[in-house]
Amino acid sequence: MVAKAEIHCHIEGAAGPALVRTQAEKYGADISVIIRDDAYVWSDFTTFLQCYDIASRLFRSQEDYALLAETYLRDLAAQGAIYSEFFISTDHAISAGLTPEAYVDGLAEGMLRARAATGIEARMIATGLRHEGPQGVERAARWIADHPHPLVTGFGMAGDERMHEPKDFARAFDIARDAGLAITVHAGELCGADSVRGALDHLRPSRIGHGVRAIEDPALVERLARDEIVLEVCPGSNIALGVFASYDAHPLPRLRDAGVRVTLSSDDPPFFHTSLAQEYETARRHFGMDDAALLDMTRTSIEAAFVDEETRDTLLARLG
Ligand SMILES: [Zn+2]
Repeated sequence: MVAKAEIHCHIEGAAGPALVRTQAEKYGADISVIIRDDAYVWSDFTTFLQCYDIASRLFRSQEDYALLAETYLRDLAAQGAIYSEFFISTDHAISAGLTPEAYVDGLAEGMLRARAATGIEARMIATGLRHEGPQGVERAARWIADHPHPLVTGFGMAGDERMHEPKDFARAFDIARDAGLAITVHAGELCGADSVRGALDHLRPSRIGHGVRAIEDPALVERLARDEIVLEVCPGSNIALGVFASYDAHPLPRLRDAGVRVTLSSDDPPFFHTSLAQEYETARRHFGMDDAALLDMTRTSIEAAFVDEETRDTLLARLG
């Protein structure tokens, strides 16, 4: 089995139907509209968000989040992963009625349990939600800057890419950077090359979440390769959301051939009916990548991981 790593997964989006069913029983909630035959059911971006929302509202306590992180990471380790970096959102915690402290502590507890059981290493990336606007993202950045945690090592922005301009968020990212957090940002998924360029110019990330629509602009592709910006590519997510019509049309192989540093991740795996192992299988089957090429992407993920150098060396050594 090829050693795997993932650096782009939203923790609430990693909750599988089985776990969500357990949570629904715990809180007496009806989930028949979102889960059928042990799979999530949705039909477009709006119903996907509704489905996601109903599922994530079933995580309400510190222990719920510990269980969520532990379940996700144990499952990932069973797929051959040695490392995971996942997005957290203190805004989600607050809307679940939990303090951000209890949310982060719960997730950290689950990470430690999973590491004790399987050896999987993990870190969290705090995020602001773009559709909450510059003030909302700044609030998220400031909270994490004021509450440092050893397992929260990055800051990013998720949410609806079609809203606001990257430059509107420069201040939030400066706050995070000044607090010593590494930077990634979602761009080039729902919007095109301009969105990626704006993110690079104004937010100065070392990685881009998705970034795949950079392919629309050859000069931008060249810039990504030259500046060694790492793309967190999630092919299954892109296909599920219709960013590309088919795997044949997916630009990962072309980006890689152009010298861009690409990696593989699963984004919101059960919602897109995928898993990290399935993403690696997709790359093998649809992009013609062999074991060496797949391991190369894992290595890129570890090289780009938001960890201290000692942890990075330990992880790289595990790749052989
Ligand atoms: Zn994402």
